[in-house]
Amino acid sequence: MEKSHQSKKHSVNTSNFIDIWSVQCGECFKWRLIPTQEEFEEISSTFAEDPFVCSKKPGISCGDPADIEYDDSRTWVIEKPNLPKTPAGFKRRMVMRKDLSKMDCYYDTPNGKRLRSLAEVARFLDKHPEYQNNDVLVSDFSFTPPKIMEDTLPKKV
Ligand SMILES: [Zn+2]
Repeated sequence: MEKSHQSKKHSVNTSNFIDIWSVQCGECFKWRLIPTQEEFEEISSTFAEDPFVCSKKPGISCGDPADIEYDDSRTWVIEKPNLPKTPAGFKRRMVMRKDLSKMDCYYDTPNGKRLRSLAEVARFLDKHPEYQNNDVLVSDFSFTPPKIMEDTLPKKV
């Protein structure tokens, strides 16, 4: 069972960033849209202890129709469960390669730097102890890219 999902709408030649976030209900398996990446990460980071269910969305229950269907009208990528929640001020970015073979992950720091690996995160935190004092840890970062669901990739013409 796929636990934690997010989808990337496929639109031709625009951005290759994820633009729609969704999570599957652990009870009815319907997909619910999550408005922001921050909320998505919040849900993902506690997924094992606290699985998502429809009733966590205000005014929604399992009886309501799904917000979105898993199909090939858009390309879906699946985040691994228990993704760490990105520390405040940092932003996790994932970008699809042009050939759709893989996504690449990086983080933007509060001061506008780009970090591309755990080694770069460690160096950055060494240089900026003010973040460590705010309890930012290397383990708060994950460069594991989401898995691309091949059955939802645009069909080759
Ligand atoms: Zn449900």
